Amino acid sequence: MPITEREMEMMADLAKNHGIRVQQGWKNFSENLNVAQAMVLDIDDVSSLQAVIRLIHKLNQDKKPDERILLRAAAGGRNEEYSESFSFTPGAEGDVIVRLVGKEFRRIRKTSDDKIMSVGASVQIGELDKKLYEKYDLALPTSSLIPYVTVAGLSANAGHGTGRDQPGFSGLIRAITLCLPNGEIVRIDESDPDFHTIRAANLGLFGIVLNVELECTKAKKMECIMDVSNIPDFIRKVKAGLFSKYPYVSVMYVPTYQSNEMTSERYNNVIIYCWTPVDKSTPDENNCPYLAHLGQELQINLERNLRITDLLRDYPHLIPYFTRYLVTQSAIGNKDTRSVGPWHMVHYQTAFPRDIDDADYLFQVGQDCEEITAAISKIVTTLTEFAHEKQYPLVDAVYLRLFTGTNGGLSTSAHEKGQYVCGLDMVSGNGIAGYAEFKQNMADYFMRGPLHAKPHWGKYVPTDVDYRKIYGNEFDAFIAALHKWYERHQIEIDRSMLLNRFHCEILQLPYYPAFTHNRCMTNMCHIDTAHSKSIADDICCQLDKGSEDAENFRRRLQVIGNEKIRENKSAFFESSHRDSDEMPITLAVNDKPAKKKGCCVIL
Ligand SMILES: Cc1cc2nc3c(=O)[nH]c(=O)nc-3n(C[C@H](O)[C@H](O)[C@H](O)COP(=O)(O)OP(=O)(O)OC[C@H]3O[C@@H](n4cnc5c(N)ncnc54)[C@H](O)[C@@H]3O)c2cc1C
Repeated sequence: MPITEREMEMMADLAKNHGIRVQQGWKNFSENLNVAQAMVLDIDDVSSLQAVIRLIHKLNQDKKPDERILLRAAAGGRNEEYSESFSFTPGAEGDVIVRLVGKEFRRIRKTSDDKIMSVGASVQIGELDKKLYEKYDLALPTSSLIPYVTVAGLSANAGHGTGRDQPGFSGLIRAITLCLPNGEIVRIDESDPDFHTIRAANLGLFGIVLNVELECTKAKKMECIMDVSNIPDFIRKVKAGLFSKYPYVSVMYVPTYQSNEMTSERYNNVIIYCWTPVDKSTPDENNCPYLAHLGQELQINLERNLRITDLLRDYPHLIPYFTRYLVTQSAIGNKDTRSVGPWHMVHYQTAFPRDIDDADYLFQVGQDCEEITAAISKIVTTLTEFAHEKQYPLVDAVYLRLFTGTNGGLSTSAHEKGQYVCGLDMVSGNGIAGYAEFKQNMADYFMRGPLHAKPHWGKYVPTDVDYRKIYGNEFDAFIAALHKWYERHQIEIDRSMLLNRFHCEILQLPYYPAFTHNRCMTNMCHIDTAHSKSIADDICCQLDKGSEDAENFRRRLQVIGNEKIRENKSAFFESSHRDSDEMPITLAVNDKPAKKKGCCVIL
């Protein structure tokens, strides 16, 4: 352990004197990261943050560099739902994790430029958009789909939204104010020769970001057309210029695992959101965020309270029924819709399941968007091959967005002039049969194949990949800027509290901390048969009567709910009903012993 008991006492004394709230143990939103030993400090103001950083900086001077204390910032810590750290990658892991919870870090202020706003590090994107619209007649020209991530967290990882003519989120940044890892406060802007390299994806390595100055645009409403579609129709529309017709397009595809998914029009398994800015005076239409939130909550309820992902882990043959009926019904629906409302009310997805895993790849796209149809065709055909083996790796969806991107440093949306960038997410749950293999297969295709994609820094970042090769000269520019930064501020980089093991691995830096955190994996839970029955019964109650797909799904759930299964755990049962689309007819009963939630692995 790099922090001795004596040092812990010193930290605790300092925390007491500054009114800093201390707790032990930290988890991220999706709970794939769980650092039980971390000391979590909830900090109200800049001077308290400086005091903590100065103390750790001083302690680190007397330690061997590889035994240094690591301090990282993480989002979250407000006492409200969805105030969490949303990255899947271990960027925020440290011995000490600071959460900037005070008002000082949530301030939104005007600057001398009407379009540039100074925004505190911990302001969430959705609350920022709302305040900009309502109070300042401004809007963010691009923002993430999730409203709960913070300005500092999203920009650290080169986060992105949608918008054909828009940069990544970091591209909106005009200046950054940071607290250096020696406690000094520094503001940088375009006048700094490394500004573009640093702002694009700072990974939290240059200091703790206190606020950013963001270029906004005049507030507009958005008209949103939701076009219910399927794979062949979507591909036709892309070829016919879908992305050039609308300034903002987002697409969601829910795999339905038909043997002819590439050509089938049977299910509405794609929804295309097309947004166009309209004047603020345009009357709202079909814009009921409260109802939309309830609809999304219903979906989340399936996951969170009914624990459907746990059921699908143990009964993977249910997945096609689940996606064909429940996911397509709740997330896509049957008819095209048009709505008009403020961007912050029509754009964001407001409810999210915790039990998810996400691999997001970004790749350059030409004017004809051929790369998008190639990528989606590859995903669909690979999923079809898995389905032949009775594996259904994706239980959620594939999301696809097009934007212009931002160049510089470790930006994932680097692009050549006149080209675009596609961000493509594949979302599922860890432990779903075939998912790990599919994820690896896709990592090979996207990163090592013709698309030369870059993985999102906050989602799935395999550490066995040569990122110097992926980023080319920009990788070296980033490393050079990082070294220059530490030299300029007279801080020894090998003693930097901000560089954790993950950063050393991906950036090929030799400053590995000796101590490895004992990370507990908390998701991937299997359930016992009795519990499966009650989950299956609960889900049955949610299904409508009358639809063929609902009936198919109900029949499968009823088989699980059948008491007889528990009496004969080793048996294989024949389903009474054979689908027209070669659905699996044997049902392997789960006889795995129930596993406890949470198993510890050393990473
Ligand atoms: C359900 C879900 C939906 C998502 N949707 C999108 C999306 O639409 N678009 C997208 O791009 N991403 C999306 N993501 C990924 C997410 O936006 C990124 O991982 C983002 O970095 C999370 O930001 P955060 O505010 O939660 O910060 P964290 O995840 O806590 O931190 C991210 C990184 O920034 C560092 N950091 C945090 N605060 C500071 C600070 N003040 N100073 C310096 N460093 C800091 C942390 O140490 C860490 O390295 C989604 C993730 C989830 C779980």
